[in-house]
Amino acid sequence: MAALTDTFTLANEVRIPKIGFGTWQVPDGPETYDSVRAALDAGYRHIDTARAYGNEASVGRAVRDSGVARDELFITTKCPAEVKTADGARDAFQRSSAALDLGPVDLYLIHAPWPWSDRGSDHRDGNIEVWKVFEELYSSGESRSIGVSNFSVDDLESLLAATEVVPHANQIRWFIGNTQDETTAFCAEHAILVEGYSPLATGGLLDNREIAQIADRYGKSVAQVSIRYLLQRDVLPLPKSTTPARIVENAAVDFELSAEDMQALDGLDAGGL
Ligand code: NAP
Repeated sequence: MAALTDTFTLANEVRIPKIGFGTWQVPDGPETYDSVRAALDAGYRHIDTARAYGNEASVGRAVRDSGVARDELFITTKCPAEVKTADGARDAFQRSSAALDLGPVDLYLIHAPWPWSDRGSDHRDGNIEVWKVFEELYSSGESRSIGVSNFSVDDLESLLAATEVVPHANQIRWFIGNTQDETTAFCAEHAILVEGYSPLATGGLLDNREIAQIADRYGKSVAQVSIRYLLQRDVLPLPKSTTPARIVENAAVDFELSAEDMQALDGLDAGGL
C-alpha cells in the first residue's frame, strides 16, 4: 500500500515512511513482539517506541527476526521526559540503543518538555542541556535525525534560540478535533515535521457519528478516515493496534477525502477528548 512506503522528507533530507506503527501501552514480550511482526508483515516500515514504554527489546527482536533489511526501516525512540541533564541523556540513549540493538536510531526524541508528574513545569535549561547531547548523537551518526515531542511554540522557541540543530520533528497529540493549529503552523514555518500521536484519540474517536457518516460514503472505517485526515494535513499518523486485522486496516488509507469532507472534519468538535 502506497501509504506505507510513501515518505515525508525531513529538513536534513532523511526520508521517513508516512505512517508509523505505535507501541505505547503494549507490554514487553509476546504482545509487542507479535504486533510489531504483524505490522512489518503488513508492510509498515516505521516503528515508534520509547524508553518509557519498556518494550524496546521486543521491538528490536521483532525487527531483527522479520528479515526486513534495516535500511528499509525507520525506528524512533525517545529519551524519558524526566531526563533533563546531559549525563542522563547520554545514559538513556545508550540504554535504548543497547535494548533495540539495531545500529543507529533513525529518530531520537525528547519525550516531553517536562516530567509527566509535573506537566507544564519549566525545564528550559534542562532541555537545552539534553538537546546538546542530541546534537552530538546526530553529528556522530548514532541517531540519523533528532526531534522533540509534546513541545509547544514556547518550548520550541526557547530551544531554537539556544541551540544549533532545529528539531527535525515534533511528535504531538493530533487528531480530528484536536489539531494543535498554533504549534502545527510554527512547525511548518521551521520545516519541523509534525508527527501526530493518538490519531484515533486512543480509541476515543471510534464511536464518533459524524466521522462514521463520512466514512460510510467512502466504504471506509472511522479509523481509516481518522488516519487519512492526518495524511491530507501533512501530519504523520502513528496509529497503534495489537489486533492483526486492525493493523492491516489502518494502513489501507490510499483514498482521498474531498475538500468538503476535510472541511467538515476540520470543524468537528471532538468533545474534549
Ligand atoms: P491510537 O492509535 O489513537 O488508538 C489506539 C486504540 O485504538 C487501541 O485501543 C486500539 O485497540 C484501537 N484501534 C486501533 N485501530 C483500530 C481500528 N482500526 N478499529 C478499532 N479500534 C482500533 O492510540 P495511541 O496508542 O494513544 O497513539 C498511537 C501511538 O502514538 C502510540 O502507540 C505511541 O507510539 C504514540 N504516542 C506518543 C506519545 C508521546 O507522548 N510522544 C503519547 C501517546 C502516544 P487494539 O490495540 O486493541 O486493536
